[in-house]
Amino acid sequence: LTVVKCGGAVPPEPVCADLAGRAGEVVLVHGGAPEIERLSAELGVPARTLVSPSGVTSRHTDPAMLDVVTLALTGRAKPRLLRALAAHDVPAVGLTGLDGGLLRARRKTAQRAVRDGRTVIVRDDHSGRVTGVRPELLRTLLGAGFVPVLSPPATGEDGAPVNVDADRAAAAVAVALGAARLVLLTSAPGVLRDASDDASLLARCALPREGPVPHAASGGMHRKLIAAREALLGGVPRVSVSDGRLPRPVTAALGGAGTTLE
Ligand code: ADP
Repeated sequence: LTVVKCGGAVPPEPVCADLAGRAGEVVLVHGGAPEIERLSAELGVPARTLVSPSGVTSRHTDPAMLDVVTLALTGRAKPRLLRALAAHDVPAVGLTGLDGGLLRARRKTAQRAVRDGRTVIVRDDHSGRVTGVRPELLRTLLGAGFVPVLSPPATGEDGAPVNVDADRAAAAVAVALGAARLVLLTSAPGVLRDASDDASLLARCALPREGPVPHAASGGMHRKLIAAREALLGGVPRVSVSDGRLPRPVTAALGGAGTTLE
């Protein structure tokens, strides 16, 4: 079993075409940052950022933004993938972490952020981290020969939706299903030693078991490396970050393209 996570900037067509013949063996997890940004602009919902005291930035998912995230993922990113999968006769089912209690998460009810040079407490952020995966529904769908297509939001402790990082959700799903592989497809060749130089691709990248991860020039890659580490520590034997823009991106990644994390 392989869990494939497909970034929002990855073109859906090659990934979906490459899943033909793999139904029942693959779970597809997706994000959709470009769709979220586009929809928030269309709806006039300001996209705001939270900066933690240690300098880590994240999306401020206030109630209006939580709706935008949910609408963009379930109304735009997911249908696009389902349509491309259907075009290649791949039987697929779209889900979020709200279906069947698939992804459970704990919302950050109060967090510190730096705003205008002052540390403030933010209480209206509806994001959090995955605390549990109920894999039964995924197993049922896989057993029936479907490709589950899963995205945030997750189910909070009070049942309300919680936005979670899709890379880390994919890692949690891979761990829960005992997947043999986790493939994080993105719009970069893999993990680069120098983020501005595509020729600096690392074939292998060793992650420390704890503490800061190397080679993460931006938040996006930082989260991927954190997710990769969580999958490895959870027992997923092979984890890679690979180029989703290649003609057969899943086949390429399974064949060793991109960066293998260890
Ligand atoms: P996705 O939407 O696919 O999940 P993100 O945009 O969040 O991906 O993160 C991937 C991006 O991270 C790459 O497109 C690249 O611009 C950036 N990046 C930062 N540091 C690195 C690095 N060391 N190697 C590769 N990409 C990096």
